[in-house]
Amino acid sequence: MENIFCSIITIGDELLIGQTIDTNSAWIAQQLNPIGVQVKRRVAVGDNKEDIINALNEEQNHAKIILLTGGLGTTNDDLTKPILCDYFGSTLVMNEAVLQHVTSFFKRRKRPMLAINNNQALVPNNCEVLFNEVGTAPGLLFEKDDTLIIALPGVPFEMQYLVSTHVLSKISKKYRRPTFIHRTLITAGEGESFVANRLIDFERTLPENIKLAYLPKLGMLKLRLTGTEISETDIEQHFSELKNILANIFVADQDIELEEQIGILLKEKNKTLSVAESCTGGNIAAKITSIKGSSLYFKGGIVPYSIESKQNLLNVNEHTIESTSVVSEATALEMAQNCLQKFNTDYAIAITGYLEKNDHDNQIWIALANKNFCTAKMITVPYDREKNTVLTVNSALNLLRLFILENP
Ligand code: AMP
Ligand code: MG
Repeated sequence: MENIFCSIITIGDELLIGQTIDTNSAWIAQQLNPIGVQVKRRVAVGDNKEDIINALNEEQNHAKIILLTGGLGTTNDDLTKPILCDYFGSTLVMNEAVLQHVTSFFKRRKRPMLAINNNQALVPNNCEVLFNEVGTAPGLLFEKDDTLIIALPGVPFEMQYLVSTHVLSKISKKYRRPTFIHRTLITAGEGESFVANRLIDFERTLPENIKLAYLPKLGMLKLRLTGTEISETDIEQHFSELKNILANIFVADQDIELEEQIGILLKEKNKTLSVAESCTGGNIAAKITSIKGSSLYFKGGIVPYSIESKQNLLNVNEHTIESTSVVSEATALEMAQNCLQKFNTDYAIAITGYLEKNDHDNQIWIALANKNFCTAKMITVPYDREKNTVLTVNSALNLLRLFILENP
């Protein structure tokens, strides 16, 4: 079956000077992929007529579906609508439904409506208007034989609303597409190249229509199998084989973050957690609490950043710190045990370490405790402060996950 390609043109000077990161393209690609549309190219252009028209012309050589985002507002730098009008020889007409929506949109928010806001309801007479319930700028859809050109607002949640409610169904109705199936495996604790080395034979025997992708993050690795025009059973067979080979570093067989996985485990076992974070400064607690419903299992945390607060807030013994140093197995273990007691939880995790190399190695001690047992592990972190924080947080979350599994 013929592939259906899409090009995404993102519009805005802010994208070119790096003030705004183009998250729209990535989000759109994630939505198109499961419905069998491949994003062939992504182009970013400034708020400039010639560049926008050149991009429109060029992308039609590469794709049947062209999605534009940005420049649909009513300020002077918003050029997309007048340019598309010119391009498709349209005249602007007042769309009563959009006008009513925009008027009530301002009324509901108790904000005065300016004359300029009326312009949102002026739409090209030869396009399909995609009604924007969550904002004021409607999407504009131009259909020319086999080609779809769709302009969407730049504001991410408005764009997302229009794609979800209008664009995907339009594309699905218009084009016959090949089917793709993705299966994602999450692993932790082994670097990408080591894993790749273990998968040489596996990759060699994969059929043409199944591809393996490596998506490394600090401290963890996602592996994605993508099958084209394949049955669920076929891809499942290769996916199980992959799981078997990597059983010792397996985290999850779905695209899920470590903190979600920990939440699932704690809820399932009806257990609670507390954290004592020195060098990660609350980043682990932030991850844990980013999960909806985490109040069911997370009781709280302490950031005892100084030696003094390790003693005062967590009752770490002065002697322990003096005799073994503040970054040591003994200090980390005491932090974890005392955190467990302070918060009265089933599990506690504690971190103490150096994120940057000075006169120490960048060593991090991670300790885990429950009521019967505690253990600690040292890792060394080789990057800059920011990356080392992410690596430490991911490593700690993975050790916590294993500790919960091994010490129910
Ligand atoms: P606009 O539709 O051009 O008025 O853009 C409205 C807002 O959406 C601005 O704050 C932009 O920075 C933001 N925005 C525009 N394009 C993108 C994009 N590709 N990714 C993320 N945000 C964007
Ligand atoms: Mg703009």
